[in-house]
Amino acid sequence: MPDDEDEDFEDFTGEDVEFEVSEDLHTVCHLCGGAGFIANPVLAVIGGAPRTIDNGRPCPACDQVGHLPGLVPPA
Ligand SMILES: [Zn+2]
Repeated sequence: MPDDEDEDFEDFTGEDVEFEVSEDLHTVCHLCGGAGFIANPVLAVIGGAPRTIDNGRPCPACDQVGHLPGLVPPA
């Protein structure tokens, strides 16, 4: 019934919601995908055997925050 739908909508937008969405617009970092770190594979010799290790490095685009302020379209 249309009346019930209206009541549900009012409840959803009321002040008693348990979680809130931030009013500040932000964009998930395009470079790290929100992780704050990006891949940094380097060569290492472990136990006499060469192999690749990847400890990552801080994301230079978002400075490890994981998101960018405002709406940033992918370039
Ligand atoms: Zn980033």
